[in-house]
Amino acid sequence: MDKNLSAEKCLLLEKELSKYKLWANLNPEKAFPLDLKRILSKEEWKILEKAVYKKQEYKCHLCIASTSQLMIHEQWFFDYNTSKQQLKDIVALCDLCYFNTHLEKKNLKKKVILHWSLVNNEQYHNFEEYKKNVMELWELRKHFNWQVEDNLGNDISRGISLYTLLKLVANGYKGEYVPQSQENDWNFTTIEDIFDQFEKSVSELEKIRIYKWNKECWKCQKETPHVSYCIAFQGEIIGCIGDIEKLDKYLLEDYPFVKDVYSKTQERRVIGNTCIHCGAYQGNYFIFDEFLHYVDDKNLDKTIQNILFMKIYLLLSPCLPIWRI
Ligand SMILES: [Zn+2]
Ligand SMILES: [Zn+2]
Repeated sequence: MDKNLSAEKCLLLEKELSKYKLWANLNPEKAFPLDLKRILSKEEWKILEKAVYKKQEYKCHLCIASTSQLMIHEQWFFDYNTSKQQLKDIVALCDLCYFNTHLEKKNLKKKVILHWSLVNNEQYHNFEEYKKNVMELWELRKHFNWQVEDNLGNDISRGISLYTLLKLVANGYKGEYVPQSQENDWNFTTIEDIFDQFEKSVSELEKIRIYKWNKECWKCQKETPHVSYCIAFQGEIIGCIGDIEKLDKYLLEDYPFVKDVYSKTQERRVIGNTCIHCGAYQGNYFIFDEFLHYVDDKNLDKTIQNILFMKIYLLLSPCLPIWRI
């Protein structure tokens, strides 16, 4: 099909579909893997999720349902003249709205269609007609050679930073969900505010301290070194070895007895201390208590430069990391 004709048809379909509050604006399959979850690290993804959820007060962006089942959804804009696909916003949707934005998936459940009709105030039997348009638009979009960009026009296939995404989340803020009460004593207006507040209040975290101490191995009873960072915020220890991926990597590179091991307690792979004699994993769980007994300034081994990531991380997690419990 002629590209201009396709573009024209796409715009018509978009216009028709935009009359719905909830509609499936499907990504062309050929595009760069758009899954931000795969581009970001595990921790970065958690931060992004948390920022979006907080911004929306744990409510669905479209139907305002309060639910614990929120899912992150990227909103894209398609420019048919330039073949550019641009990231417009990152929102959180309830599961029923989310499934509605993925009509390309098979086995659509009845309750998903019912949700479509409720949110859009449409007759249930109009769904098939609507879906036909969605699929036609999707098919037509496949004829373009999309370049995928962030909101500032940077090519996402070269990567995208968490900072850019958080800024997008903050700027995409329409004021619909004004946070009323916070369990923490900070107020979230824009990400820039957060950075400003943080820069001013937590200067002691500019360097991250790495502690090193000796302790008997639980298995062979010989003395073996242990290392960990200890991140405290507002008087609480919130992060030790095994909690923060980026810091664990530093330890892994610098200390040969720090290894990637399987933790039976946590049922996952973790970075942790191992015995230099018998190789046994020493358990990150106990590090927490050890800080109280073994670790003081004489065990300070070195400091590493803080990174922007840490600042965001700490600000959004001013409590004990839940994945530790
Ligand atoms: Zn919803
Ligand atoms: Zn040992």
